[in-house]
Amino acid sequence: MIVTVASGKGGTGKTTVAVNLAVIAPEGSVEVFDCDVEEPNAHLFIKPENIVTKEISTMIPDVDMNLCTLCGECEKICRFSAITMIAKKIMVFPEMCHSCKGCSMVCPAGAIKEGSRVLGSLLTGQSSRGFNLTWGELRVGEAMSPPLIKQVKNKIDKGIGKLFIVDAPPGTSCPAVVTLRDADFALLVAEETPFGLNDLALTVEGLKKLGVPMGIVLNRADMENGIIDDYAVRENIEILQRIPFSREAAKVCAKGHFLVDELPEIKALFQDIYLKIINNLNSIQKSDKGGQ
Ligand code: SF4
Ligand code: SF4
Repeated sequence: MIVTVASGKGGTGKTTVAVNLAVIAPEGSVEVFDCDVEEPNAHLFIKPENIVTKEISTMIPDVDMNLCTLCGECEKICRFSAITMIAKKIMVFPEMCHSCKGCSMVCPAGAIKEGSRVLGSLLTGQSSRGFNLTWGELRVGEAMSPPLIKQVKNKIDKGIGKLFIVDAPPGTSCPAVVTLRDADFALLVAEETPFGLNDLALTVEGLKKLGVPMGIVLNRADMENGIIDDYAVRENIEILQRIPFSREAAKVCAKGHFLVDELPEIKALFQDIYLKIINNLNSIQKSDKGGQ
């Protein structure tokens, strides 16, 4: 099953939670996928070996002006204004193209061929802890991350019966939605600040629309102002754990080490989060079977 670790804003400790959960899980039971392709950093903690890299491209239209009749059909169908007619020439704006192939399908003259544009890289490596990490690295300057995120997720093989821990991009825009939409459970990492609450609420609204069950982990939870607790009660979302702020934890993370290796009190918290996630997934499976 897929557990996606998400947050409405960056810097909440989402990747820290994802990688430490992977380490605390029984050996051989998990795989990790870093879909934060604009800024992947799970590999900095996991330090995978035997890395295999594949270049990922996407389709863009390549117009043959010798065949083009300037009928304008391609411009009409493109919802993204990525292809347009200017001064009797067809111009393509690759950065705006969503690779839907609509323009080539409607071109009556067969003037649009499939060109390609490099999006970034898909990488897979093995952790010394007995699991694989798959991640994407978006090309610098590239804005279109969802196709690369889909390539990372395509590597999830649900048939092997493991727990797939997915590190989502922060926010609630397209990259986060593409990552979260087929999660079995979303683990929301949040902070007890007004900004943290605002961004958490946006993510919760999105997850409700996607129909993804969720739980909250409060990180650096030492303010005890209750704003997330009150919200969680109102929304009927379980707070699975509170990870207190600690200078020691910050130092361990800064060194690229796992919290669960070096701080026994935090290891216990992660063991508890892991068990609660498994319990939630078991309940979801039971209710799915009951509904069939
Ligand atoms: S492939 Fe789709 S998005 Fe790209 S230019 Fe053609 S119609 Fe527009
Ligand atoms: S649809 Fe084809 S023929 Fe018509 S303007 Fe576009 S490229 Fe030219």
